[in-house]
Amino acid sequence: MNKERALKRIAAEIARCALCKKGGTGQAVPGEGDPDARVVFIGEAPGKEEARSGRPFIGRSGKFLRQMIKEAGLNENKVFITSPVHYLPLRGTPEKEIIIHGRKHLFKQLSVIDPKIVVLLGNTACLAMLDTKVEITRAHGSTVEKEGRTYYVTFHPAYAMRFPEGKKQFIRDFRILMSMIKPSHPSPH
Ligand code: URA
Repeated sequence: MNKERALKRIAAEIARCALCKKGGTGQAVPGEGDPDARVVFIGEAPGKEEARSGRPFIGRSGKFLRQMIKEAGLNENKVFITSPVHYLPLRGTPEKEIIIHGRKHLFKQLSVIDPKIVVLLGNTACLAMLDTKVEITRAHGSTVEKEGRTYYVTFHPAYAMRFPEGKKQFIRDFRILMSMIKPSHPSPH
C-alpha cells in the first residue's frame, strides 16, 4: 500500500475510534502533511478551531508554529503535523489515559512516514513519545534517541507565545533544528 493510502487509513481509524473520542468533542483531528516528510511535528491536542475544521494547528499557536516552520526554511506542505490527542478535550488538559491510547495511532503514522526527525512540542508530546515526564525548560533544544527514532525536544508554541523568554528559546531551538536538517546551514553555536 502506498504511504498516502496508509495514512488515510490511519486517519479513518482515528475518526472511528471511540477511545480517542472519550472526554473529547468536535471533529477528529488526525494530523496532516507530506507522507514523505523528513520532519514530523507532534503537539498536544486540538483547540477550538482545529476541532471545528479537523485540521491541526490552524489557530493562533498553529499560525505561529507554521510561521516558525517557514522561517526554518521548511515548506509547511513538506512536513507532517499531528498530536497524540485527537479531539478537543472537554476538560482543558488531556487525560493521561487518552494520551497513552492516542499515541498508538501516532506510532503507526511514524512507521508509515519514517521521518528523519520527530519534533516534540511540549510536555504532552514528550510524555506520549518518550514515556517519561521531561523538564522542558532544561531538555529543550536536545535530541533523544528512542527505539530507532530521533526526537527533538522543544516548547509547545502556545507556551512560547505566552512567555518572551520561552519565545526566544523556541526561536533558538528552531535554528538548531534547521542546522540538523540542513547541515549546510550555519549552526547558531
Ligand atoms: N495545539 C496543539 O497541540 N495541537 C493543535 O492542533 C492545536 C493546538
